[in-house]
Amino acid sequence: MATFQVGAVSVTEVVETDMPVPVPLAFRGLDGEADRLDALRDRFPPALFTPKGHPLLVFRSHVLRTPRSVIVLDTCWGNQKERLLDPYAHLLDTGYLDGLAAAGVGPADVDYVFCTHLHQDHVGWNTRLVDGAWVPTFPNATYLFVAAEYDHWTAVPPGAHGHDSFADSVLPVVAAGRHRLVGPGFAIDDAVRVEPLPGHTPGHCGLHVTSGSEEAVFTGDLFHVAYQFARPGWHIVSEHGARRATATREAFLARYADTRVRVVPAHFNLPAGGYLEKRADGYGFAPA
Ligand SMILES: [Zn+2]
Repeated sequence: MATFQVGAVSVTEVVETDMPVPVPLAFRGLDGEADRLDALRDRFPPALFTPKGHPLLVFRSHVLRTPRSVIVLDTCWGNQKERLLDPYAHLLDTGYLDGLAAAGVGPADVDYVFCTHLHQDHVGWNTRLVDGAWVPTFPNATYLFVAAEYDHWTAVPPGAHGHDSFADSVLPVVAAGRHRLVGPGFAIDDAVRVEPLPGHTPGHCGLHVTSGSEEAVFTGDLFHVAYQFARPGWHIVSEHGARRATATREAFLARYADTRVRVVPAHFNLPAGGYLEKRADGYGFAPA
């Protein structure tokens, strides 16, 4: 379990599960470079890849403890969820809550849950199954959903990918009166604000933490694999708006490279993230 500080904010990861991703199958826009991954891989930390060279995707929450609040950032797949379109996550039974307890956090201690977006692997533990009904896992928390994101998923019809998780992991929170719709720039407290990073989904946002002289950006699914630092046009098949996401990636790289702002992607096998470095041929990444 990795813990790090951003000024006075402590951050702990709680891992649910992980999975290697076959880049040529799972990504689009590779433009004939699928057979040149080895050469690109050398510039990135080895921890991001399996021994066979595939990027490892980790499904985790980051628990942020600010001087004022306990915030759970993204909530993985969840247990006992029927995911016929995501067989990997179908009817999972993991020890996620034990991991949360090991991090010193009980469900009742959480003040806020923030979902960077409402894909299946970011909302699962919003709810858990009790006596046949989905109830909020964190009974005292305010669940913060980005309004544009919520509106998008409200319109996704039954049977479409993502409707199932919206129905069992978002709507029960709304029914329980535990949610609040927020927009880009919303300040959860004086150390943490919502940063718009649109494209992967329409309302996709990260969290920007500022405390003392230290800063970090939790980037959700803006980047899935480090290759995208060098090739921001590569996009995972589930990306909703690839052109918009690519533009967001390019602007993000230009803004944060060669700064002391820590960058923490949701799924990288580097729980404390790292720092972007501009190179002659794109961007590299140094572990924090
Ligand atoms: Zn994700």
